[in-house]
Amino acid sequence: KIRVRYAPSPTGHLHIGNARTALFNYLFARHNNGTFVIRIEDTDLKRNIADGERSQLENLKWLGIDWDEGPDKPGEVGPYRQSERMTIYKPLIQQLLDQDLAYESFVTEDELQKQREEQRANGIAPHYVYEYEGLTDEQIKQKQAACRQAGLKPVVRIRVPKDRTYEFDDLVKGPISFDSDTIGGDFVIQKRDGMPTYNFAVVVDDHLMKITHVLRGDDHIANTPKQLVVYEAFGWEPPVFGHMTLIINTKTGKKLSKRDESVLQFIEQYRELGYLPDAMFNFVTLLGWSPVGEKEIFTRKQLIKMFDPKRLSRSPASFDAKKLEWVNNQYVKNAKMDRIANESIKQLIKAKKLPENPDSKTVAWARELTSLFKQQMSYMGQINELSEIFFNDPPVLDDACKQELADENAALVLAEFIKRIEKMSLFDAGEIQNTIYDIQAATGVRGRKLYMPIRIGTTRKTQGPELAAAIELLGRKKALVHLKQTLA
Ligand code: GLU
Repeated sequence: KIRVRYAPSPTGHLHIGNARTALFNYLFARHNNGTFVIRIEDTDLKRNIADGERSQLENLKWLGIDWDEGPDKPGEVGPYRQSERMTIYKPLIQQLLDQDLAYESFVTEDELQKQREEQRANGIAPHYVYEYEGLTDEQIKQKQAACRQAGLKPVVRIRVPKDRTYEFDDLVKGPISFDSDTIGGDFVIQKRDGMPTYNFAVVVDDHLMKITHVLRGDDHIANTPKQLVVYEAFGWEPPVFGHMTLIINTKTGKKLSKRDESVLQFIEQYRELGYLPDAMFNFVTLLGWSPVGEKEIFTRKQLIKMFDPKRLSRSPASFDAKKLEWVNNQYVKNAKMDRIANESIKQLIKAKKLPENPDSKTVAWARELTSLFKQQMSYMGQINELSEIFFNDPPVLDDACKQELADENAALVLAEFIKRIEKMSLFDAGEIQNTIYDIQAATGVRGRKLYMPIRIGTTRKTQGPELAAAIELLGRKKALVHLKQTLA
């Protein structure tokens, strides 16, 4: 039975790349009726952030990802936070020490640093040099005792076999092999503070949690041979590994890194802007995975049904912010009006365009406003920009507007429109449309020459939503102010 896991370190919020890892594991589990486990890798105490775990889990839930076992869903192989598994790691470290597959190492950070600098200066790849070379067991014991007496704390290092090749068949990249000499020497499995290192804990947990497939980002590929060393030391069968390619930001052509400010990278940020979770789920799935065929919009159910890790791409995935908007727009267009209106109203309140608790009349008005822009929006935060003229002073006319207004009939149309709407008894879209027809009949001006002055006069833009409906929502008072300013 397939068991996969997503193992976030609570050192930050849910990043697009992490979300993708979680999502592919989730899809893989659900497709195969397997089990999806969440494990919190929180042994790096210095890097953990207070809100990390809660925020990671909450944003996964928002995306529509659920799990079968995790810190909030105890299962048989818990606990699911590494910091709570110390009693599991300790005896296993001791076991390796007892078997002499690992040993205590007292070389200090400063010494290691110096060693690495010298190696680099000599053109050698930096690596740990065995500190007990040529010593007898007795001499080693004496050296360790002396270090301890001097108050030094040891790390525990695992012995990396020499002249070995570590091979695995990567689910995404195919067969991969590493020479054990490139690992960099015996590596640390327990830090000076007693905490296990990532490469040790991850193996113990994946084994004890019966993980069958490890799907993760390819920034971890160089860790895999180290993990194979640990599997070998314990005599455990390693899982199947699959390393997903990195993500390239199409805007910069570079690897998407957390420092890249040209694009939003945290799920939370998209959530706050009013993106729809289903759309994000759909979009993230297409980062480095593709189904057969050209279609790109799929429901969660369809994605679960189709997901096949063999179709994970070997070439870098491209993060295209424009495509993200396109996918989201597809979802907004097809979503129920209620959902879009509710989300948009939240955004308008957040931007202080609507009061904290709008009355029912305001809500009804805002719903109409939202429906004007539904086809156009990619995310609901856009309502603020799109509906600006409904809230703020009309913007200064740009050149395109001025050019349209230079038409010989523009002033006439505007004057007629002002005159007629001042007298209208019912100010609604239908009547406004009729008024426009009346002006056409009375003046003979038609088409663009008729509509443009009215559109610019009221909305102060050459493009926008359905005109009569927009003018109704603007209201007679505002419409007249805008029109008169335009005519002046
Ligand atoms: N905690 C690791 C990370 O966040 C997980 C790596 C793995 O999946 O093995 O990168």
